[in-house]
Amino acid sequence: MSIILHGIGLGGGIAIGNPYILDKSLDYVAPQALEPHEIKAEIDRFTDAVQQTRRELERLRNNIPEDAPAELGAFLSLSIMMLNDSQIASAPIDIIKSEECNVEWAIKLQADKLAERFDEMSDDYLKERKYDVLQVLERIFKNLEGNKFDWGLDGKLERGILVTHDLSPADLVHFKDSNFSGFITDAGGLTSHTTIIGRNLDIPAIIGIEYARALVHEDDLIILDGMHGVLIINPEPLILEQYKKLQAKWSKDQAKLSAIRKEETVTLDGVRVELSANIDSIHDIEEVKYNQASGIGLFRSELLYLSGKNHLVDEDEQFATYFELAKSMKKAPVIIRTADLGADKNPMWNLTQNTARNPALGLTGIRLSLAEPAFFRTQLRAILRASHYGNLQILLPMISGAQELKQALSQLEYAKEELRDEGIAFNEEIQVGAMIEVPSAAFAIKSILSLVDFISIGTNDLIQYLLAIDRNDESVTYLYNPLHPAVLKLLTYVIRSSNRSGVPVSICGELAGDMNLTRLLLGMGLRKFSMHSSSILKVKQVVLNTNINEITELVAKILKTENIERIEELVDALNFGIN
Ligand code: PEP
Ligand code: MG
Repeated sequence: MSIILHGIGLGGGIAIGNPYILDKSLDYVAPQALEPHEIKAEIDRFTDAVQQTRRELERLRNNIPEDAPAELGAFLSLSIMMLNDSQIASAPIDIIKSEECNVEWAIKLQADKLAERFDEMSDDYLKERKYDVLQVLERIFKNLEGNKFDWGLDGKLERGILVTHDLSPADLVHFKDSNFSGFITDAGGLTSHTTIIGRNLDIPAIIGIEYARALVHEDDLIILDGMHGVLIINPEPLILEQYKKLQAKWSKDQAKLSAIRKEETVTLDGVRVELSANIDSIHDIEEVKYNQASGIGLFRSELLYLSGKNHLVDEDEQFATYFELAKSMKKAPVIIRTADLGADKNPMWNLTQNTARNPALGLTGIRLSLAEPAFFRTQLRAILRASHYGNLQILLPMISGAQELKQALSQLEYAKEELRDEGIAFNEEIQVGAMIEVPSAAFAIKSILSLVDFISIGTNDLIQYLLAIDRNDESVTYLYNPLHPAVLKLLTYVIRSSNRSGVPVSICGELAGDMNLTRLLLGMGLRKFSMHSSSILKVKQVVLNTNINEITELVAKILKTENIERIEELVDALNFGIN
């Protein structure tokens, strides 16, 4: 019987093969009572394993492969530091003495205690640091005499898929040279370092499949789809056939994509295009850098307010995040969108009422910020303060017209004035843009262009409001079509008006990352795109293979066409050869 399980996919393509199940884990440890005279030897086993772990981590840190993710060094240093912490270095010894138990059991008790403490933390980021600490204990455990694991580096092991409880980033270093074609873990969190580093390794991998080790047997055949986080145990022959084809296609596409990572994003006729990244957390930065984004085109700051805390993030908390963003992106632009709360993004502390009949048409985005000036200015002050340390820019969401925009700009002036009075440094020339995602702002674009330094089109909302489709209602998703002639006409109008006024325009809605629309958008005159980092290389490949001069005529024809089916046919013709 075939079984399908889901976890967090770290990408890396597809692996098909037999599992290699690694059971040696703290989870499988049982207690053993010791005689008093055995205690000293048990403590020695522990201290030997800690020393062995330290040597191993130091060796890894001194021999980091050139292509390893940039943060691996810092992570290894942190792990080495943890070995000095009393919670790791001496607590298990105290447990061996007090419980008169084996060292494995002492490590397990200490790991459970620490895990419980981390689980009680309210901050999501700190909560996930649990994995970093537990991985150090796991590593000591694996270094205890008798628990050594064979990575198959000598080629003796069959090339299978490793199924294990957890892997630390330090373990991942072995992977490229090991005999395994992918890995699956029971443990793992979205922002754990294993996730962040694992994503950059290009190895088929899934983490966080809770019962993987229990359900997979050594003689099963498994398919690991790292892109979708899907594990299939003993697939039907037809499914296996399809995955083999997908696997071959993925490898071919991947080789092509990584070859263009460092190339400049320029069309065949020499037009430069900017591909930036949309992010909603500082933890996405590594992926942004790996994909060589031009900058951050959209930082969805409202996620700071939605992180589960039941209070308003204050100015200093916000500053810390913006400062970190500014610093890590160096001179590259980082566009921070002010809180786009309300509608579908309501924080726990409920600044706005959830009772609105039509929240998407209610007090949302800039409307909410203007209704709560103190809240808005706190955020503006935090961004301004951080602007002193990098290339931060401000983007105002849900602007519906010039009046509203002017009100927001005067709040910004007020915040600047306050900082000047307080003698706090900020970038006086900070660039300010408006999101164009309400149809009225799109139609009245000329009145907006004279007030801002740039605009960014939010096609997710623009399409929602233009076509009257609730973006969160699956029953009307079938009506969502970016190729609707009304959408194309409005986008063209906004892009061309901005280009004529010399005001930079980008698209930061999902359309920007859809490689099937790249040529059409280039033909409309768009030169700046902002998307999820994982789409950057795919869109880049289309840019590199497009001659804008050659597509102009066909794009003009598409923009004059009223019939959706005909538009779709013409767009297929426009995209000929890109897939
Ligand atoms: C948009 O509306 O296109 C957009 C980028 O913003 P969000 O999806 O966060 O509303
Ligand atoms: Mg929006």
